[in-house]
Amino acid sequence: MQITFVLELLEPTNRKQNVFHENIREVVKNRQVIAEKLKAGDNKLSSADFKEHNLPSAVKNQNIREVKALYKEFKKSDSDKENITFKMNQPICYNNQNYEVDGHIISIPLYTNRCERFAFPVKQTERWEKLQKHIANDCKLGKASLFYKNGNWFFAVTVNLENKENNKSNIMGIDIGLKQLAVASIQNPDGKEINRQFHNGSQAGFMRKKYRSLRRKLGQAKKVNAVEKINDKEQRWMTDLNHKISRQLINLAVQEQVGTIVMENLENIRQTAQSLNRADRDLHSWTFYQLQNFIEYKAKLAGIKVEYVDPKHTSQCCSKCGQIKKSNREGNLYSCDCGNHIQADLNASRNIAYLEQQSA
Ligand SMILES: [Zn+2]
Repeated sequence: MQITFVLELLEPTNRKQNVFHENIREVVKNRQVIAEKLKAGDNKLSSADFKEHNLPSAVKNQNIREVKALYKEFKKSDSDKENITFKMNQPICYNNQNYEVDGHIISIPLYTNRCERFAFPVKQTERWEKLQKHIANDCKLGKASLFYKNGNWFFAVTVNLENKENNKSNIMGIDIGLKQLAVASIQNPDGKEINRQFHNGSQAGFMRKKYRSLRRKLGQAKKVNAVEKINDKEQRWMTDLNHKISRQLINLAVQEQVGTIVMENLENIRQTAQSLNRADRDLHSWTFYQLQNFIEYKAKLAGIKVEYVDPKHTSQCCSKCGQIKKSNREGNLYSCDCGNHIQADLNASRNIAYLEQQSA
């Protein structure tokens, strides 16, 4: 698995920023010419073919790799365009041979009137600390890139993690929804539930209503900037909550020797949210998607596999006898003739875990 750590540079001097911008301009030109050569059928390219571009050869070589990959995608895409075009804000990319991370100092080659090595301090954030841990554990660094966004400079470092194989056989099924943001059911290989976890959505619902009414008031007063600020604030709040939920789910999974986490793919989530208005639905698709991503990411870091199942019937099927009956689900409750009367989302999460048992 690959993960990327985005580090923020401490504000470089004006001179250095000018060098960055100058190199980025050359990267744009270089990439464009590479794409043209590829289009002309010229596949054997090396940095020596681009003497007119003022860039370190390491950067030119990386550009060739990147553009080749992009060109391949472009050819596959059936696009009407003549060729790929590059926006002005390209990243400067390096392979792992050409940059160094030493504590909070990164060093990279750039071109001034010759190729020169530059060193930059980065902010010692939480992300930086995590990267340090990986480096201390001798992990393999992958490619990196320097880029400019909203007035700041960033250096993104990719880390290649070995996929840890685990031989744990318990399964955690997770149902994601509105009333319960997440319900997890953990089953052993005999299909017996050994633990569960609920993440109630009432606080999120309360916050949603609070922000919605704030937005409405500000909207009527035509305070557009203030509305945007509220949106950002709500997103940050939800992101924070998703981090907490995913962390607690993974902690439980580790504690209970879970080898595989199973979730529904997102189609079903869109259907679940059909009762909402458009703005709320977009928000939900976004936050459900984010929660799944956080779960998947943290699971993989913990060496737990993640699978997705087809969500057909997971909420209508009885997790005890297997009968599929839509009317069995009434609001938060699932009740079946067989005597299964349980919380509806727990029923769904049991089914999700069960589906995985069957397919394994
Ligand atoms: Zn039943």
